[in-house]
Amino acid sequence: MKIYNTLSKTKEEFVPITPGEVRMYVCGPTVYNLIHIGNARPMIVFDTVRRYFEYKNYKVNYVSNFTDVDDKIIKKAMEEGVDSSEISERYIEECKKDMESLHVRPATTHPRATQEIGGMLEMIESLIEKGHAYVAQDGTVYFRVRSFREYGKLSHKNLDDLEGGKRSLLVSGEDQKEDPLDFVLWKPKKEGEPYWESPWCDGRPGWHIECSVMSRKYLGEEIDIHAGGEDLIFPHHENEIAQSEAANGKTFARYWMHNAFLNINNKKMSKSAGNFFTVRDILEKYDPQVVRFFMLSAHYRSPLNFSAELMEAAANGLERIVTAVSNLNFLLEKAGKEKLSEKEAGLLEEAKGFTEKFEEAMEDDFNTADAIAAIFELVKFANTNTGADSSVAFLTALTARIKELSDVCGLVVEKEEGLLDDEVEALIEERQAARKARNFARADEIREELSSRGILLEDTREGVKWKRA
Ligand code: AMP
Ligand code: ZN
Repeated sequence: MKIYNTLSKTKEEFVPITPGEVRMYVCGPTVYNLIHIGNARPMIVFDTVRRYFEYKNYKVNYVSNFTDVDDKIIKKAMEEGVDSSEISERYIEECKKDMESLHVRPATTHPRATQEIGGMLEMIESLIEKGHAYVAQDGTVYFRVRSFREYGKLSHKNLDDLEGGKRSLLVSGEDQKEDPLDFVLWKPKKEGEPYWESPWCDGRPGWHIECSVMSRKYLGEEIDIHAGGEDLIFPHHENEIAQSEAANGKTFARYWMHNAFLNINNKKMSKSAGNFFTVRDILEKYDPQVVRFFMLSAHYRSPLNFSAELMEAAANGLERIVTAVSNLNFLLEKAGKEKLSEKEAGLLEEAKGFTEKFEEAMEDDFNTADAIAAIFELVKFANTNTGADSSVAFLTALTARIKELSDVCGLVVEKEEGLLDDEVEALIEERQAARKARNFARADEIREELSSRGILLEDTREGVKWKRA
């Protein structure tokens, strides 16, 4: 399997640290608002990467954080006159609902920055001890960038060029850094902001340290894949590498994967520029499966422009697969013969070629566009080679193959039978019990199961309410 590694700027053969296992970390959203469909791109792309590894029988440990302490969260909390934890809790819940709708599976662990402060203090302390960080007069702790020789290796930037661009910071005389390149690990509190005690000052962490700490805690000092949107390459991921490698003395992540941007009118979709659609807005108009299909219809490293035409093409593409499966099911109900004929056995052999094509595309740096094209070929093959005289065995095998490949892309191509009210309520009760026992993984799993079967949950003050989508 080949993965394009931002570190080497080439496609490299994937060799896991532990055979049969993948440890991956995907930088998650800052939770101060509903997520937009640009944020959904890395979620869908890397969920598909995870699904493919699992399809190939790897055991995947997938960690994705929620950044729940940040200037934007604090600002929003102040505007609303509430605690910043209320804002982050609210948008974590909302984000989970959007992920579920888009069929993005919950991570193995979703750590939150505010719950990992102890680990951050420890790592900062050890960076200071090793001479990689220093405390300024007001208690701010900075990472000493020039103490880490390999700084710039991910973004392929040269330290001296960077320095040139930042020199004005030092000239201003206000800065207390030794070097304009140095970045914050810990900063003093400001009035009204959340803070934690530390040996240096009451304050809060810089953004980059959280990922280094959570990745180490949940996945170990060295991991296989670290991923996120391409805007994170510099400075976020460059800084994460500096912190982790300086603290642990080991390679932080072997493969760095970055998705390109989702654009609108060929301009980057971003909150600050005001040109964005929330996932919630889009799901009012489009089936979540169509959104997912759209995201995977381009290679993850190619920019993707959001447009009504492309969404329509995605809807048609998905429909082609769904219709084929529904036709196969129709034939299956009427099928008279059980056993595979000799001719059908030969056709199934031939159809293996489409699965191989699918796998080849996925193993070429997760080329989902070509992988979907292989599903289309399989669909066409099924349409052409089935009819009233097909056997149960043949129809079942073809349906299973189409569903299996679609499932790797997180696409549901067969409508599941609806749940009865009693069954829904039993699952909700089980979810409540799991939450009470703090088994959040199970609780999330139940929510996802219900959602995939068209049942939406809403946690209200009066308890859990549900409705059919
Ligand atoms: P943020 O909440 O801004 O830190 O973003 C969370 C994730 O979404 C990061 O991996 C970003 O790189 C990614 N992201 C943000 N905007 C876009 C976009 N327009 N297209 C693709 N990915 C994006
Ligand atoms: Zn990160």
